[in-house]
Amino acid sequence: MARHAVTVIPGDGIGPECVAAAIQIINATGVDIDWVERHAGERVFRQGIASGVPQDTIDAIGSTRVVLKGPLGTPVGFGEKSANVTLRKLFETFANIRPVRELPGVVTPYTGQGIDLVVVRENVEDLYAGIEHMQTPGVAQCLKLISAKGSEKIVRTAFEFARSEGRQSVACATKSNIMKLTEGELKRTFERIAPEYPDIRASHVIIDNCAHQLVKKPAQFDVIVTTNMNGDIISDLTSALVGGLGFAPSANLGNGIAIFEAVHGSAPKYAGKDQINPTAVLLSGVMMLKYLGEFSAAAAIEHAVLATLMDGHLTGDVVGYDKGLKTSAYTRHVIDNLGRRVDGWSVRTSKPIRMPEVSRDLVFRAAKTKEVVGADIFIDSGLAPATLGPALEAICESTPLKLKMISNRGTKIYPDGNPNIDCVDHHRCRFIGRGGPLAFDDALALARRINEAHEVCHVERLLRIDGADGFTKAQGED
Ligand code: NAP
Repeated sequence: MARHAVTVIPGDGIGPECVAAAIQIINATGVDIDWVERHAGERVFRQGIASGVPQDTIDAIGSTRVVLKGPLGTPVGFGEKSANVTLRKLFETFANIRPVRELPGVVTPYTGQGIDLVVVRENVEDLYAGIEHMQTPGVAQCLKLISAKGSEKIVRTAFEFARSEGRQSVACATKSNIMKLTEGELKRTFERIAPEYPDIRASHVIIDNCAHQLVKKPAQFDVIVTTNMNGDIISDLTSALVGGLGFAPSANLGNGIAIFEAVHGSAPKYAGKDQINPTAVLLSGVMMLKYLGEFSAAAAIEHAVLATLMDGHLTGDVVGYDKGLKTSAYTRHVIDNLGRRVDGWSVRTSKPIRMPEVSRDLVFRAAKTKEVVGADIFIDSGLAPATLGPALEAICESTPLKLKMISNRGTKIYPDGNPNIDCVDHHRCRFIGRGGPLAFDDALALARRINEAHEVCHVERLLRIDGADGFTKAQGED
């Protein structure tokens, strides 16, 4: 019996070429792996399986618990869900680890600076929960969900990962200055947990400045922990710092499960041309070997890749497709270089990451007090604020709620609204209690009354949780 069983998903576009090259090289180290081939992505969508992931793939992953995966093409903007996101959610791989390191032989504007950093991206929450609704025919909404539990898991993973590799610092990158509740949750969690890791320097950076700093002075970063979408974007950026997506590996980690894949996608224009750079998938395989405890095979491949690059055997993404090596030729060079050692390159030794054990209770943070203080009732209406406002005031006159203000895409437009706002037909009408006790039913009753004359499209409770407002103010709201 093989020492390890790994589910392998060749993927779409350039995926099969990259994965075949990686497997060839990994097998050439002599490591004993039983590759269990399964499929997901475009060909599965074409079979009419809307998730893009068939049951036999789910079963294989459930059994091997370790996956090497090629990129999967995602339909954009309509129809099916992303098979990548499906896989991450099915197996709750909540952490995405995306390391980049300067590669000798691959010249970039940063050569010599010693870039060696890791983006730890939350992998299942945020806008990627994919909860979207048309609120009016002309206004779409996507829910950005950030949980206390998810934040704690990713923050602890980032610190544990830093410790496992002997890294010195973790920076938390958020947009908490604007999204105080959602992005702010990650920041607050980070600041609460950081003191438990006194051996690691902790700091916070606003994500846009993080992008700026990454381009200006990337070597200052060690580990960056961030939310899902921020992490998705900045990890493409960090890959470009060391030579591009062809060199950027990743690991999707959950409790007792790991899916290894390149950061890049299926790059369909290069599919089947034997032209692309398989290093990102190969280095994902190196991360997998370390996860499996096969450190000497992992080190052998790292050295062989570096020797290949330093010998000037480069693929077209680095030197131009007219001059670059074919994928197959590059793969042969790496195999030929197994056993070579590159002076001055130290393979990062890593201990297994202690994945955080966080309570699986649904109620992760219980409130001592939770009171309804009002409601935001959203209305699909073409009425001008000066007409809609008094109409709503008349409707709520004899109810426990009064109209505080109306905002349009976050900015107050009534009363005394900003006349420069280019309004759309989606009005957030904020009602607050008149002073007496209030229940959500009061807000629902008001919403039903409003809906007799206007079109209510959404209702949100305004909560005060443990004495703090559980909602933010509109621009211009006092
Ligand atoms: P992409 O496939 O990552 O390709 C973007 C560009 O990156 C390519 O055009 C190419 O740049 C370069 N590139 C990527 N991988 C390369 C490699 N191995 N060797 C050399 N160059 C490489 O991004 P995309 O075009 O935005 O996405 C294509 C599809 O992949 C979409 O359906 C997307 O949803 C999906 N996707 C899947 C995953 C995943 O499975 N995890 C991740 C991201 C995207 P040049 O054009 O400059 O040569």
